[in-house]
Amino acid sequence: MNLSIEDARLEPILQKVRAGARLGYDDGLALYRTPDLLSVGYMANLVRERLHGNVAYFNVNRHINPTDVCVASCRLCAFGKRAKDPRAYTMSLEQVWETAGRGWSEAVTEFHIVGGLHPELTLDWYCQMLRGLKERFPRVHRKAFTMVEIAYLARRSRLSYAETIQRLIDAGVESLPGGGAEVFSERVRRIVCDHKIDGAEWLEVARTAHRMGLHSNCTMLYGHIETEEDRIDHLLKLRALQDETKGFVAFIPLAFHPDNTPLQHIPSTTGFADLKSIAVARLMLDNIPHIKAYWVMLTPRVAQIAQRFGADDLDGTVVEEKIYHDAGATTSQSLRRGELLHLIREAGRDPVERDTLYRPLTRSETAFTVVV
Ligand code: SF4
Repeated sequence: MNLSIEDARLEPILQKVRAGARLGYDDGLALYRTPDLLSVGYMANLVRERLHGNVAYFNVNRHINPTDVCVASCRLCAFGKRAKDPRAYTMSLEQVWETAGRGWSEAVTEFHIVGGLHPELTLDWYCQMLRGLKERFPRVHRKAFTMVEIAYLARRSRLSYAETIQRLIDAGVESLPGGGAEVFSERVRRIVCDHKIDGAEWLEVARTAHRMGLHSNCTMLYGHIETEEDRIDHLLKLRALQDETKGFVAFIPLAFHPDNTPLQHIPSTTGFADLKSIAVARLMLDNIPHIKAYWVMLTPRVAQIAQRFGADDLDGTVVEEKIYHDAGATTSQSLRRGELLHLIREAGRDPVERDTLYRPLTRSETAFTVVV
């Protein structure tokens, strides 16, 4: 197919993409700065189809957020609350297990478990929670804890990252969700999340987990006070770690939702910026297999179009999303399996239900029996 590139500065990048060559820092900046979104999307789609053909992945998952109590008070967050805040909650172990069981009729294959940095919940408590989930739902994959939560548990338990991760693996963690990366720039972190680990520590927790055999996702929160240079620097750091460990399975660009945060004067991201973020990520992260269009933050409409701008995954049913809805997300809290299938098929893609590690599942449409 012949493409007429509107922005001539993209021509050399198109040549590199066609040749399968790696893009550099300046290429990334040019991609972010051009208004020629369709050309960027075209190039990202070339890469996406080279890697995944016409397939678009989704899964049937359930989010569990055991507590929103958090000591960090990040300015970018509407979810974390101080322990004394009357709106704060912390589930008991029984409540976590009971929550996990809700939505079971959709035959959930993954629990996505993240929460605040609670000053009193111990590593043992989390291990007990995981063991209870494993006992009750032995076939449901446990993808649990951001790098930030792991670093905090390690500090409070006076254990190394490796010792903490080993305890969590022994209790039932099977992979890590990859949140909390925000943007690695020190300048940005000082303003938006100065009480949590820095970028180097986030990468070190990920490196340690990958070396111990855990896969993880990785993320970038965009659309707040970061610059285009900060974004490219962030993507290149993730790419460098992936060259080293090959542990990242998917990258998820997360659109900043300002409502109810101290940064609520910042306007929400636009569809243009959201599609650009998906496409640039696909082009820059040549060694990370999957790019996820997380419909909760993008809206199902934009996530659907993103399948033509570099994304090969729409995430899952989610069932009860708290973190971005506290920050004003207006999307539904869950999508049914049938709605995800519709979003994918209408975009001309072939839906494939996957498990957490992107192995296709075979499912009987009537019994919802999962055969991995
Ligand atoms: S972003 Fe995470 S660490 Fe920061 S306040 Fe929110 S829950 Fe806590």
